[in-house]
Amino acid sequence: MSIKAPKGTKDILPDEIINWQNIENVAYEVFSKANFKEIRTPIFEDTDLFERGVGDTTDIVNKEMYTFLKSDRSLTLRPENTAGVVRAYLEHNFYRESPPIKLWYKGPMFRYERPQAGRQRQFHQIGVEMFGVQDASADAECILLATNFLKKLGLNDLVVEINSLGCSECRKEYKEQLKQAIAPFLDGLCDDCKNRYEKNPLRILDCKNEICNKLFDENDLRNKVSGIKLCPECSEHYSKLKSYLDVLNIKYVENTFLVRGLDYYTKTVFEIKSNNLGSQNAVCGGGRYDGLVETLGGPHTPAVGWAMGVERLNSLIQPLQLKKIDYFVVSDNQKEAVKLTSSLRDKGYTVEFDYNSRKFAKQLEKAGKISKFAVILGEDEIKNNYLTVKNLETAQQEKKKLEEL
Ligand code: ATP
Ligand code: MG
Repeated sequence: MSIKAPKGTKDILPDEIINWQNIENVAYEVFSKANFKEIRTPIFEDTDLFERGVGDTTDIVNKEMYTFLKSDRSLTLRPENTAGVVRAYLEHNFYRESPPIKLWYKGPMFRYERPQAGRQRQFHQIGVEMFGVQDASADAECILLATNFLKKLGLNDLVVEINSLGCSECRKEYKEQLKQAIAPFLDGLCDDCKNRYEKNPLRILDCKNEICNKLFDENDLRNKVSGIKLCPECSEHYSKLKSYLDVLNIKYVENTFLVRGLDYYTKTVFEIKSNNLGSQNAVCGGGRYDGLVETLGGPHTPAVGWAMGVERLNSLIQPLQLKKIDYFVVSDNQKEAVKLTSSLRDKGYTVEFDYNSRKFAKQLEKAGKISKFAVILGEDEIKNNYLTVKNLETAQQEKKKLEEL
């Protein structure tokens, strides 16, 4: 039996890679302008990092991690990159430098989820993290980076949803309110939600289970709970964020039920959604995580960031066509063909020749498929030291010297 790629993973083939490279180039361009620096962390980390960093009431930690033992050490393929970036930030003492520290990353993430459109087990994220700024200008800067990035990729009809989860004080009362509203139909909710009810009731609002969502609707849950009442400090932060977004001309929708799947968020959370993605409609998710650096053993450090799903991004973007190469060397003298190919490549062109030195007609046929021009090097050309250059679109031919190419 032939071996296939594991369920939930995909090969990215040469035809498609041009789209990936384009996304990565645009990311580099946009983030560099804002002076964000790329960081690459390991694909696996100590399991403990994610248990502490992502949070043990999350789906990710509870059931989605690829964890394995090596010499009694528990390791996990990274399900997301924020915890790894914070680990590196601490390990290399970035907090001793003057803030802000602004980083971005790209790469594969691993989550044991049910594969479906827009959801894989190995998928890719591009993300940014910004450390050391308490002011909401950092939240706004991160959101601006995301919208600029998406705009540069030609995506305009996306909706930015924002919310504030406040601090733990702000959430206390809301959690109680939420629990009271949920209590009458708690028995009907999924096991995850029953678990969350005690540990982190807010996360119930993020449940993707259809039965739970039906029960929320039937019991009018979203009208019974008013949203988080923010303390003066959190409220000011949220107002400031909105005023920054206004001056930046970034349109947003406030969604008081936006809670996000990870435990570490404080104050600002946001998602960027598309109506063209079906039920996996979020391309980007992020927020402020002022407690995470401390949770992982560092000094108190305000931070904000986001991650985007590259597969979902790709499905929204018109695929680019693979470009034709510049020249195809057509010759029955293999030595001369090898030499000319090499000279043209040295001049900076993309060049191919026929490794098998087939008949002229065959070579020209191949050239027509993959190249803009054919450079013909026959007996007469070699003898009289010139090249025949054929434009493969117009079929026009010209005699030229190598120097003239
Ligand atoms: P979702 O609600 O869709 O599961 P999430 O809240 O788990 O997303 P994050 O962990 O914040 O997502 O990741 C940010 C982005 O990464 C998502 O908005 C999405 O575009 C992408 N993403 C997350 N999980 C997957 C996956 N399994 N396959 C493909 N893309 C994913
Ligand atoms: Mg998820």
